[in-house]
Amino acid sequence: MEFDLIARIRDRAASRGDVVLGIGDDAALLQPPAGTLLVVAMDTLNSGVHFPPETAPADIGWKALAVNLSDLAAMGALPAWCTLSLSLPDADATFVDGFLDGFLALAAQHDVALVGGDTTRGPLSVCVTVHGLVEPGMAMCRDGARVGDDIWVSGSLGDAAGALAQWKSNGDVDAVLRARLDRPTPRVALGRALRGIASACIDVSDGLLADLGHVCRASGVGALVDVDALPASDALRATFDSEPRRQLQATGGDDYELCFSAPAAAQAAVLAGALQAGVAVTRIGRLDARGGVATLTSAGADWRAPTPGWQHFAA
Ligand code: ADP
Ligand code: MG
Repeated sequence: MEFDLIARIRDRAASRGDVVLGIGDDAALLQPPAGTLLVVAMDTLNSGVHFPPETAPADIGWKALAVNLSDLAAMGALPAWCTLSLSLPDADATFVDGFLDGFLALAAQHDVALVGGDTTRGPLSVCVTVHGLVEPGMAMCRDGARVGDDIWVSGSLGDAAGALAQWKSNGDVDAVLRARLDRPTPRVALGRALRGIASACIDVSDGLLADLGHVCRASGVGALVDVDALPASDALRATFDSEPRRQLQATGGDDYELCFSAPAAAQAAVLAGALQAGVAVTRIGRLDARGGVATLTSAGADWRAPTPGWQHFAA
């Protein structure tokens, strides 16, 4: 059954000059430029765990690649190639066509070639591996943050979690929020622009405080975050009051924004890089030596998140 589907995928997948051999043989042959490091990341999306089962196939395709490109962005890598493992309940060509609409649209935006994969029968599940390139010494790792560095975040936080909260309560889901849940924007250009400027970087997938906590642990520092400084979209402000909104922004998942640290002296360079990448960045706090992630309101009151991080939406 898979062969028809694989032919469908092969016919639509674009290539690049550095793909010596793409879909069709036992394995792909790729030519990385001399003197660059290969950056590899993989993420799986399971139906009912990582996306609502009724999500449009094109949105599943988009998101499966987006969450992977977001990992490359957080490393400062330039995306190049990807592979795709598809587990499908049945050989549904309509699903695959829709899936490819979203997947290949995002791949084209980033000049990523789909060079291989696997197609099997099973519960709906999508696993993507992305391959990117970065110059030696230029990758942004989680362990480079230093006491005194500013903490920054890109774009806005909480939109995807807001959509999920609305979806779970069986109410109407705001279309702008829903689009942020279904079609996250990987901040690849920002990641590239921050090479040599940011001291550490992570993409926000499990919730800002949880992911910032990973950076703090890896770097041996603490963080003080002003929860009222967290950037919110107009759509989120219009749909949630301030306290539930803070919770969504601080602990909701699926944002796929970049959270990064940089020395205070690099502020102008951060802003210039963000301008060049065409994405807003907001300073949300500072790293300190106390350990852990502390949160205050702008009035200086202690604020405590109800849960440390997003648990996805399956109970
Ligand atoms: P094998 O038995 O050698 O693993 P497959 O029949 O699984 O071969 O795959 C045949 C070719 O199609 C391989 O080049 C593989 O990389 C590619 N392929 C299979 N599934 C996909 C997919 N979902 N997306 C992209 N390429 C795929
Ligand atoms: Mg195979």
